Amino acid sequence: MNNKKNIFQQILSKKIITNIIYQDDLVTAFNDIKPQSPIHILIIPNIFIQTLNNINHKHELILGRMLLVASKIAKKKKIHKSGYRIVINCNVHGCQTIFYLHMHLLGGRQGVNIFF
Ligand code: 5GP
Repeated sequence: MNNKKNIFQQILSKKIITNIIYQDDLVTAFNDIKPQSPIHILIIPNIFIQTLNNINHKHELILGRMLLVASKIAKKKKIHKSGYRIVINCNVHGCQTIFYLHMHLLGGRQGVNIFF
């Protein structure tokens, strides 16, 4: 098993102790170990999916749940009005370093506009 996917699998199996802030039947959310903003939470599927390239129609419920949970956590953390960013990195050009699909939820301060 690739170590870079294994980290999140170890978090799921609780072999690595991490503050899990949300978990249901499909997804799990926990704080990023190296936060890039005051709120930096990772939301992952409970089953292994390597990258966005590996999704198919069977994953629609999981992918929808990831967004729903991000929106709920943003409200719980009271960053929904000020706003936040959702990021999914895919493969090398997308700066993915952990090859286990994950969604970043970033908020709590003004982000940098990377498009202009
Ligand atoms: P990527 O660059 O793959 O989109 O993001 C991977 C993220 O996982 C990074 O923000 C990194 O800080 C985070 N990360 C890496 N290892 C661990 C870990 O062991 N625990 C937690 N909570 N986050 C991790």
